[in-house]
Amino acid sequence: MTQQISQSQDFTDKEILVINCGSSSVKFSLINPATGESELSGLAQCLLSSDANITIKYQGEKKTYNLAAPFDHQCALAILVSQLQQLGLVKSICAVGHRVVHGGEQYSEPTLITNEVEQAISQLAKLAPLHNPANLIGIKACQQAFSDLPQIAIFDTAFHQTMPEKAYIYGLPYSLYQEHGVRRYGFHGTSHYFVAKQAAKQLAKPLEQCNLISAHLGNGCSVTVIKDGKSVDTSLGMTPVEGVMMGTRSGDLDAGIIFHLVEQLGYSITDVDNLVNKKSGLLGVSGISNDCRALETAMLEDNNSQAKLALTVFCYRIAKSIASYSASLTSLDGLIFTGGIGENSSWVRQQIIQQLSLLNFALDPDKNLATRFGASGNISADNARDCWVIATNEEWVIAEQSAQLLTTLDK
Ligand code: AMP
Repeated sequence: MTQQISQSQDFTDKEILVINCGSSSVKFSLINPATGESELSGLAQCLLSSDANITIKYQGEKKTYNLAAPFDHQCALAILVSQLQQLGLVKSICAVGHRVVHGGEQYSEPTLITNEVEQAISQLAKLAPLHNPANLIGIKACQQAFSDLPQIAIFDTAFHQTMPEKAYIYGLPYSLYQEHGVRRYGFHGTSHYFVAKQAAKQLAKPLEQCNLISAHLGNGCSVTVIKDGKSVDTSLGMTPVEGVMMGTRSGDLDAGIIFHLVEQLGYSITDVDNLVNKKSGLLGVSGISNDCRALETAMLEDNNSQAKLALTVFCYRIAKSIASYSASLTSLDGLIFTGGIGENSSWVRQQIIQQLSLLNFALDPDKNLATRFGASGNISADNARDCWVIATNEEWVIAEQSAQLLTTLDK
């Protein structure tokens, strides 16, 4: 792979193309790393099926194009490249920044993608079989589409590589960690890092002096405790099943349940995998939906008791997780809510916070209700511990860190 980085590159007027590639989707955004502003963004979805399409948003206007066979990631990127060319935007792009889910213990920093790094990402697929192979597809497609540009990997696990051993070791034989990497890694790192940095700005002190707990509540959920600006524990583990309950994932389980399902109820291992990853969480408990909005509507408008139970268990487990992480700190500046649910559901936030009064959390109901739909702000009551809603922006972190890496490579 050839990636020439000019000795005299000036990144001030350049943009980073941020790519987040899933098995059947590619999210992309052209971002100014200094301001976080996105000039063009979009989503290719239903890839590898005849419904494959790509929607590109530019200057407030959205256009959707159907893909031709073979309906794959390369087809989607070919349309993106041709649109970028037509709009005269290609020359402003100085690198492609890729979200890569699992970087294992090797990668705790933004990394220029070389053949060796690609191989490592491929090997790490055994720890993230659903994600790393898809991320690699995106990397390969972008290498073809943007052959002159450096490709940079930003790992979702990287922010959590500062966790101490006591936080990442499971109560299993140590040899499983030494020989097979069985340990806790954590995910959503770029999101936790971004919102922690924004909270530090609110506190008007350097991130390195901040002690925070952040709750990323989306379809996937995780709680992270940040001490002196560094992640010291997080609820997602070796895989994204551990921790709090999520949209379709169970979160923490008694491992004995798996033996019971297999030995007494005839489940295969694939059935169990599907059950805990795709059929549990809000969807499993409610039997209605994994979507928080749909459950709130069912609970509040139709008085649906299963929807209420699912949301109640969800909030209780998150509150317990937040409270347990206070054990990692000697002082706590505040709590951050982010992710689709954290940023939008005033009901969920209220349920969680009312179970944390021992930590001196309390919400201002008006501020809580007003801070939704992309708004950020402090929602705590007077005299209570700070609690913020902060809209996450993982793409900006990827753009910013990619640009920073280019600057160091340029020296
Ligand atoms: P994410 O994975 O971060 O995109 O978040 C998806 C989750 O956010 C889904 O459960 C949505 O139902 C939830 N969500 C988005 N908007 C709202 C809203 N206005 N109220 C409650 N939940 C919402």
